[in-house]
Amino acid sequence: MTKTLFASPEWPTVPVAGDDAVYPVHRIFCVGRNYAAHAAEMGVEVDREAPFYFTKSALTILPTGETYPYPPGTENFHYEMELVVAIGKPAFRVSVDEAMDAVYGFATGLDMTRRDLQLAARAKQRPWDLGKDVEGSSVIAPLTKAADFGAIGPQRIRLSVNGETRQDAHLSDLIWSVAELVSDLSKFYHLQPGDLIYTGTPAGVGAVLPGDQILGTIDALAPVELTVGKPE
Ligand code: MN
Repeated sequence: MTKTLFASPEWPTVPVAGDDAVYPVHRIFCVGRNYAAHAAEMGVEVDREAPFYFTKSALTILPTGETYPYPPGTENFHYEMELVVAIGKPAFRVSVDEAMDAVYGFATGLDMTRRDLQLAARAKQRPWDLGKDVEGSSVIAPLTKAADFGAIGPQRIRLSVNGETRQDAHLSDLIWSVAELVSDLSKFYHLQPGDLIYTGTPAGVGAVLPGDQILGTIDALAPVELTVGKPE
């Protein structure tokens, strides 16, 4: 038998509402600029020809309700409230009409971002990894099965910091729908159970500081919470 040099990290898991089984996370895809008002506040135009993506390590998953240290290397750590899609069936080159069959469920999530490093990378046309692939930055609440969520559209997506509302939109404001995103990603990847898609954030992103309490909600989903801890 092959010996391993050290214990391989286990895949992070996400609880499922109303189920004893947990959902193991393998890959995290994130969508950029998927709400027009957020693209405008970032000083960029929405590309309506195709969505674009970046990825984060599955090891950045952080369960809701934790206190996590303010990350190193940044002076502008931002929240981004997002609808997260969990893939439950293999999907490769699926049409928009077929795409929702591959969706297992949904969760609220935070795509926490070192904005200063992301913008510096963007200005130099470099990859965003230092800004986005931040340890503990993919915060997620328990999953709700798709059948229990219903059609996507009228639900409100909101985020508050210390009780003050900062983001407030509707899922109908998504530029690329969940079905369109799953179909498009499946042109490039063999999507598999364990793949999460963070679908982008509405307008109102902003910085947090140690001690701040973030609460994100989407109607009919479990809320996502994060307390920003002291830097290490
Ligand atoms: Mn995001």
